[in-house]
Parts: sequence; structure tokens; C-alpha cells
Amino acid sequence: MQTGKHFLQIPGPTNVPDSVLRSISNPTIDHRGPEFSEMTLEILEGIKKIVKGEECIPIIFPSSGTGAWEAALVNILSEGDKVLMYDTGHFSSLWKNMAEKLGFDVVYIQSDWRTGVDTNKIIETLEQDKDQKIKAVCMVHNETSTGVTSKIPSTIKNIKSLNHPAIIMVDTISSLGSIDYYHDEWMVDVTVAGSQKGLMLPPGIAFNFVSKKAIEISTKNNYRRSYWDWGEMVKTNLSGFFPYTPSTNILFGLKEALRLIENEGLDNIFQRHERHANATREAVKSWGIELLPINEDEHSNSLTSLLFEENINADNLRKIILKKFNTSLGTGLGRWSGRIIRIGHLGDFNDPMLLGTLSAVEMGLSLAEIEHKSGGIKAAMDYLERN
Ligand code: PLP
Repeated sequence: MQTGKHFLQIPGPTNVPDSVLRSISNPTIDHRGPEFSEMTLEILEGIKKIVKGEECIPIIFPSSGTGAWEAALVNILSEGDKVLMYDTGHFSSLWKNMAEKLGFDVVYIQSDWRTGVDTNKIIETLEQDKDQKIKAVCMVHNETSTGVTSKIPSTIKNIKSLNHPAIIMVDTISSLGSIDYYHDEWMVDVTVAGSQKGLMLPPGIAFNFVSKKAIEISTKNNYRRSYWDWGEMVKTNLSGFFPYTPSTNILFGLKEALRLIENEGLDNIFQRHERHANATREAVKSWGIELLPINEDEHSNSLTSLLFEENINADNLRKIILKKFNTSLGTGLGRWSGRIIRIGHLGDFNDPMLLGTLSAVEMGLSLAEIEHKSGGIKAAMDYLERN
């Protein structure tokens, strides 16, 4: 029997604030009535601020993030079209698998799952694409399976300097609302996002933020699609409605989450995430445990991945921490299965929650008899006190 609150410190779904939970618990309303349309129009306007995309068209699907990946691909690409995708980790590889299943021709740049997008490799590939057959470039901003944040703005800037017309798609599922992002300024065409991480909502809705250029391409694209079609969505959204039944109650939650974000201020939210990420890394370094991301300037502010020696079972550590300290941490995915644990420090979060989480990890390390130095918590506390 566990008492007190469960610590949900996986890198999403994240903790949902009480006021958002209360909003979600309101009675469901008629999704074809005036109250609903007024709310939708307010949300569609408000959500543009989070993605810094005043020029973009936001589209909300009742789906998980995977649905939003699919929507992005099927609205832009036609059967057999070439798409350049970059292998930053498990999630980028799932997006690639999906693109292949859907019949697109993926040019996949492989990597070590410890670093972010290498701009030079993308530029080299696009330079070789003399006939401009590559129709889109897909990148994951924050690779949740590794804790690596890619340098998206400089990469897009370099792509644009080539005058290559490829559509730019960026997955921000674990960065939006946690790490600074500029849809318009960075010239992204399709931003993919989900509800269950920085937006502090339960899973259940996902987003495409779409540039005018992308909308134009989609209207001419004859790839078969129905549920994911942007066309019907954009048309019905104009009057605050959806072409099918939306996730009414999650939208209540989104309205409240947008209010919370506005109150705290996006810049303050990003600083909060950076501060918690820095404190976490101070703890990990003090323990003498290796961080999975290699480059310091690619460390994620949403989550931290700890890499263990091959003879250590990282899942056993996670199990001990869950059983003994009622704390859920992220598991290793794909190539890193059994080798890493991931500490989520995104969404609705504060200093005592971070220290509680780190304490559970430090005690877990001792119980699992994993060699480490003590003092990680003290290092994190010192950092939080100073900053
Ligand atoms: N992309 C990233 C970066 C993710 O972290 C996830 C899920 O965690 C996904 C895509 C897939 O989203 P979902 O599991 O909501 O379908």
C-alpha cells in the first residue's frame, strides 16, 4: 500500500495541474453548440502563442502524437515521394517506420542516438539532391528517448540558404511548452505536437501547426487520406467546430492550461525547465554516472538520461525505485533498452518535486548496489539555492 502522491517523473505523460483536472471534469457540452465554438476559437488563437506561430494554422486532432506524425506526412507527401529523416533516436525511428509503411521513400541519416541532428549531413544530402526530389525534411526537436535537443534553427537556416524547396517538419512533442521554439521565425512548415508533456494535459489530443506554404501543397496533394485531412479541419475550424467529434473535455483542459501558461509566462517556463535540468545534471555528475547525451549544448531541458555500464540492468533500478519510493521513471527504448533511465523534469513541476525524485534515484542506486558517489542531492540543492 503506497501513501502520498505517486511521483510521475517519466518524460511524459506529465503531472496534470489540479485546475486542469478540474476543468476536464466539467460536464461535456454540445460540440455543435455556441459555447463550444466560442471556446475552440479562443483555443486556436491562444495555442499559436505557445508555438510562436502567429502566421500558422493550428490543427487539433483527437489522437496521440503518432496521429499527428501521420497527418503531417499524408497531407504533404504523395506515394513514392522522397523524404529526408534524421535518426536521433527511438522516436525518429518510429516516424521513419511510419513513413515507409505509408509508401514514402525515406532517405534516413543514421546516428549514434547520443547526439542531435548534424546539420552538415543534412546539407550534404540536400546538395546531392540536384533534381530536388526530396519533398520534406523531418526532424525531432527534442528526442525523448535520449534527452538530446537538436539545433533546429541553425539547421533550417542552412537548408534555406541552399534554396532547396523541401517542406520542413519538426516534432516538438517533448519540447513544446518546455523548450523555446519559434514556428514562424525558424521557418518551420509543419510543427507536430502532443498534449501530454509540456502542455500539462493528459494524453488525447495532438497538433499540426501548419504554414501557408504547407497548406497550399496539401490542397494539391492527392495522397489518399480522410481522418487526417487538413482541408476539412481548416474549413470547419473557421466557425469553431470540427469535422468529427472532438475531445471536448481535453479541450476544456487545454483552455485552462493556456491560462496557466499565460500567467506564468513562456520565458519564465523555459527558465524553470532549464534550471531543473541543470540541477538534475549536477546531481548525476556528482553521482559519477554518465549522461547519455554527448554534447553539452544538446542537453535537453525536458528530461535527463543516465547511461549505465553494460553489466547493469537499468530496468531493475527503475523497478526498485517504483516499488520502494512510488516514483515512475522513463525506461530505455529501442537501442537503449535496459541501459538507461530517463528522469522527466517537464510540465507542472517544482523544486521539492525534483528533490524528491532525485532522492528516490539516489536511494535506488544504493539499493540496486550500483556503484556511485553520494552527494547528488546536495549538489542539486546547492544549484537550486544559488540560481
Ligand atoms: N515523438 C516524440 C518525440 C515523443 O516523445 C513521442 C511519445 O512520447 C511521440 C512522438 C509519439 O507520441 P504518442 O506516444 O503520443 O503517439
